[in-house]
Amino acid sequence: MIDNVKGKVVVITGASSGNGEAAARHLAERGATVVLGARRQDRIDALAKELTDAGHQAIAVATDVTDKAQVQRLVDAAVERFGKLDVLLNNAGLMPLAPLEALKTDEWDQMIDVNLKGTLYGIAAALPHMQRQKSGHIINVSSVYGHKMGPDATVYCATKFGVRALSEGLRQEVKPYNIRTTVISPGAVATELLDHISDQGIQEQTKDFVSQIAIPADSFARMVAFAINEPEDVDVNEILFRPTAQP
Ligand code: NDP
Repeated sequence: MIDNVKGKVVVITGASSGNGEAAARHLAERGATVVLGARRQDRIDALAKELTDAGHQAIAVATDVTDKAQVQRLVDAAVERFGKLDVLLNNAGLMPLAPLEALKTDEWDQMIDVNLKGTLYGIAAALPHMQRQKSGHIINVSSVYGHKMGPDATVYCATKFGVRALSEGLRQEVKPYNIRTTVISPGAVATELLDHISDQGIQEQTKDFVSQIAIPADSFARMVAFAINEPEDVDVNEILFRPTAQP
């Protein structure tokens, strides 16, 4: 059985809850070293301590992905502390659903800043290390909503379609450096994602629907591990998955 997760140094943005937290736990349990980034430092400190106490390798670096310098600091911390950077999981994201006509332009800015620019800042921070190493793996997180439009999700979908576009462009460009690229597009996963919908009606309606079908965040973690675990000459470019019950 192939074991290509063990020993890898993996930087994870948005590691304080949901998908990122589940990926951190799963990868650490499989022998990866995890470098956790998110704004809620108490959460990532506690997770790093829990993993370290259990005999795994983990550090936490408070990171706001809308700040280029902080993303650079997160990625550099992995290389300084562990000597290399094998995987960057660009996972931080927000989905404050609302119809365009509500004109929640601050939320448009947030989604573009976190989902799109945050992903690009991760790439900018990781790429020079990976080019120097002539190895690495960048995993970006899109969504089923990166494949189709959904109600009240126009700006969110635009960012997630964008993540797929830049992942494919990245894939084509980094061939000479032996860097793998994966975009993972989940369907409904039970996380804190819906808590940040500011329109109470839309939040309740979405939670009602999602709570009936959502699958645990460990499903996402297994997809990440699958892509990493494949041998280095196998580049898993795209994973689209959803609950069996999701239309
Ligand atoms: P959560 O809300 O549970 O997690 C979001 C994570 O993003 C948190 O760790 C949060 O950390 C982090 N984050 C948000 N803003 C910033 C920021 N400015 N800087 C750094 N980190 C930030 O939701 P999910 O786990 O569901 O979301 C993870 C990814 O999965 C997102 O990209 C989302 O779009 C995607 N996804 C989720 C789906 C689902 O059904 N759950 C479906 C499809 C895609 P903190 O607040 O501490 O900074």
